[in-house]
Amino acid sequence: MSTKIIDGKAIAAEIKKEIAKEVAAMIDKDDNAPHLVAVIVGEDAASQTYVASKEKACKSVGITSSVYRLPANTSEMELLELVDFLNRDEEVDGYIVQLPLPDHINEQKVLMAIDPAKDVDGFHPENAGRMMLGLPSYLPATPNGIMELLERSKIETAGKHVVVVGRSNIVGTPVSVMLSRKAKNADATVTLCHSRTKNLKEITLQADILIAAIGKVGFVTVDMVKAGATVIDVGIHRVEDASKEKGYYLAGDVDYDEVSKKASAITPVPGGVGPMTIVSLLRNTLLASKKAVYQ
Ligand code: NDP
Repeated sequence: MSTKIIDGKAIAAEIKKEIAKEVAAMIDKDDNAPHLVAVIVGEDAASQTYVASKEKACKSVGITSSVYRLPANTSEMELLELVDFLNRDEEVDGYIVQLPLPDHINEQKVLMAIDPAKDVDGFHPENAGRMMLGLPSYLPATPNGIMELLERSKIETAGKHVVVVGRSNIVGTPVSVMLSRKAKNADATVTLCHSRTKNLKEITLQADILIAAIGKVGFVTVDMVKAGATVIDVGIHRVEDASKEKGYYLAGDVDYDEVSKKASAITPVPGGVGPMTIVSLLRNTLLASKKAVYQ
């Protein structure tokens, strides 16, 4: 049996086309294009890259995007004032505050100040709570991207044993909640593992679907995977390699070369979960502009 490579890039492109069509229809009806704002504090290189790719993605589907670039010495009060302004600005449908923030700013305080109706990252407790209860909410981007990948790749989840390794608030915990809900394309039995889990390999070997969100290059090795399992690799790492033009290559949390020979389906890195994350943000911005989650 050949292994199915889950092409996140192609699936993301398909969803972008659907979003672009909806945006074009709104503009045809003389409605404003959805408007996403990103706030970035400081010069963190990775954050600058993420925000630039979000801007590019918005443009590609007709969503208006703008960016507030604040210096690293911006005070918490100044940032909270901007958050308050964005909450009230009717021209803004949704916005994100790019993390991490400089150490002198309390991240949680800032995220809590965002109006849940504009919280298109889905990090506000109101959205997290709504998700827990299965109520309309902005779903966090990466877990939602994983759900879409599974659905569009026609990978059955109902009754399957899903093992998630990693329990972060942005990936592992929400995806385990979403997959265990009594809902279409969910209904799985989920085991959530972390650094204190005993006998990890015994558990991962039981997974019909294994989701790796650990943050360690090549952590999931072939001996940890059941033959025929679906493997979703969330990790993304730059591995230095002087032989490459850029001086590095990208790798995930899974030993792809070996695991791909044993799995029935697997996401590559890059080109698996990564492209889906931005698409989920675009979808949430569209929902925000249509007031589809909060009336
Ligand atoms: P975090 O560092 O927040 O969480 C890592 C999790 O892995 C923790 O729950 C930790 O356990 C667990 N863990 C660490 N070591 C082990 C171990 N030896 N055995 C079992 N569990 C372990 O990471 P994130 O969730 O933010 O990100 C995970 C990866 O996904 C990273 O590589 C990140 O770059 C990538 N990522 C990719 C995205 C994309 O769009 N493709 C988006 C977001 C993240 P404990 O809780 O006990 O500490």
